[in-house]
Amino acid sequence: MSTDNPTAKLDRILADAQRSREAGYRDKALKMYPHVCGRCAREFSGKRLSELTVHHRDHNHDNNPQDGSNWELLCLFCHDNEHSRYTDQQYFSETTAGSSGPKVTHKAFADLAALLKSKE
Ligand SMILES: [Zn+2]
Ligand SMILES: [Zn+2]
Repeated sequence: MSTDNPTAKLDRILADAQRSREAGYRDKALKMYPHVCGRCAREFSGKRLSELTVHHRDHNHDNNPQDGSNWELLCLFCHDNEHSRYTDQQYFSETTAGSSGPKVTHKAFADLAALLKSKE
């Protein structure tokens, strides 16, 4: 199943971040909240700020209240985590362990590094 590919998940997160920038709420959220990941509490500044993304608490990208109550700043990895948890709940019965090991995770991180580089 190609939908099980963790790289695809990261692609989605990055597309998500891009869309956030287009919609303008990323800037707003970054002004509103400290530049700290809401999960792992890592701080981001300068160039690395691009690794901090806006997550929608209710997973609805069209829900953007001006008070920022639906936004949460998460780093790419925690954001990915958050969405896989959400996806796992939805497609729990589809999960097949075995074909994918730690190798896949490592590859996904390598791809992410390449993607981040290509954005600069
Ligand atoms: Zn994080
Ligand atoms: Zn999100």
